[in-house]
Amino acid sequence: MSKKNILNIFRIVSYFTFVIVFFIALAVNIYLHSLVNLLLVITLVIVFYYFSENACGGILIIFTIATFVFDIIFVKQKYEIYVVILEYISIVCLCLILEMYKIKYISIKKCFSEKYNVISKEIILINYEISENKKMIVDLTQRIRDFKEIGKIFQSLQASSVERKIIEKSEDIAYKFIGKGSWKLKKYEDNDVLASYIKSTSLPLMIRDATNDNRFLFLRQQNSSNKMSFIATSIKFNEVFWGILQGSSNIKNFFSEHDLRQLSLLSGIVSTVLDNFYLCKQLQTLAITDGLTGLYNQTYFKEILREEIDRSRSNRFPLSLGILDVDFFKNINDRYGHQSGDSILRQVSSILRSRFRRTDFVARYGGEEFAFVMLRTNSREAVKILEHIRLKIEKQSFFLPIESLYPIQIKITVSIGFASLTGNSHISEEKFIKNVDSALYKAKQLGRNRVECFSYE
Ligand code: GH3
Ligand code: MG
Ligand code: MG
Repeated sequence: MSKKNILNIFRIVSYFTFVIVFFIALAVNIYLHSLVNLLLVITLVIVFYYFSENACGGILIIFTIATFVFDIIFVKQKYEIYVVILEYISIVCLCLILEMYKIKYISIKKCFSEKYNVISKEIILINYEISENKKMIVDLTQRIRDFKEIGKIFQSLQASSVERKIIEKSEDIAYKFIGKGSWKLKKYEDNDVLASYIKSTSLPLMIRDATNDNRFLFLRQQNSSNKMSFIATSIKFNEVFWGILQGSSNIKNFFSEHDLRQLSLLSGIVSTVLDNFYLCKQLQTLAITDGLTGLYNQTYFKEILREEIDRSRSNRFPLSLGILDVDFFKNINDRYGHQSGDSILRQVSSILRSRFRRTDFVARYGGEEFAFVMLRTNSREAVKILEHIRLKIEKQSFFLPIESLYPIQIKITVSIGFASLTGNSHISEEKFIKNVDSALYKAKQLGRNRVECFSYE
């Protein structure tokens, strides 16, 4: 049997014993007219009730019962002195019980107040956590809203294919995103002090009161626009400082830290959009230019030619197409090396670039062949221009990138074939090129260093 069970049995037995003894004692007390004993018994019942929960209480009760029994016996046998002693012992027991009760009461009270304190602290903590969570929810909702907004911003900016449009849209978006102020997206210039400051510090800038900011005394002197508050962040292209996105207002302390954080976010987007825009432009340029000479490549040239043939037909303008081939170019490569050959090609390309009008198109057509579309140019004008170019090349000395005591220069000649459309010809670009090719072949056949026109007869 477990200790707990023994205690329980003990408790039940002592309880019933006590109840029985209580009634016996009550009867005896009434019989003996002893009110002291009666009061004692009643008090003990109350205390017993309280201590019936533990063994100690049980023991005391048994002890008290015993006292009563003896008390009754002694009273009956008229041993007054023993009665007094027993009464005395009963009172001591009672005091002992009361003391125990007091200690228990205090410890319970202390335990309760400790628990109360702990619970109060926990309540405070939970309340704090609730308020923090509420803040987080508000913050997250705001962030979700911001991200949605950012997505839209990104899309609308990406859609712009002109730099000026991106700048205008960015300024407009900055106003909508921050919700106040006037905005400028500015490319960096030396005389822009705010941009220079941001460039040197690489940090976002906020001026709460321009009249009172010692970093920018110039604003105090040159503040013709009465701008009081400024906020700005850097815009980078390819990780290099490009300019600033700047907000301003006539009111002091107009922008907040939150605005600055929002602006940093936005400037990241604008930087990325500008990055994409310039990279796209670079890619476009790379796709249509020849790497060695910087002229248009053959693919793009054919596209242009097709468009210009259509345009000349619909506008009834003449159009001429020429192809230039460097004579005996293989010999140059063989004699001076491939690098020298490349250098010649670059020098020829720069002569061609300088000789044609801006409206004409010059391309590297193949290895040492160049092609040109001359707009609104008939065969008479074309032969003049091309003859001029042939002569210019013939006369020019071409430097070679060869290490030697004296710079090495060589002379070269070119053969040119061309054909012209009068403005009402129906011809494909392939056929047109083929005609020009045959004129070039003729020039080669007739001894090179000459200009030959394709004849339609
Ligand atoms: P022709 O007077 O008949 O035109 O003779 P050619 O030697 O100029 O013509 P050919 O077609 O025999 O040789 C052209 C040479 O051009 C062959 C090739 O090695 C060279 N070439 C083609 N592309 C390049 C280039 O990008 N750089 C250099 N250096 N040489 C090139
Ligand atoms: Mg050739
Ligand atoms: Mg050649």
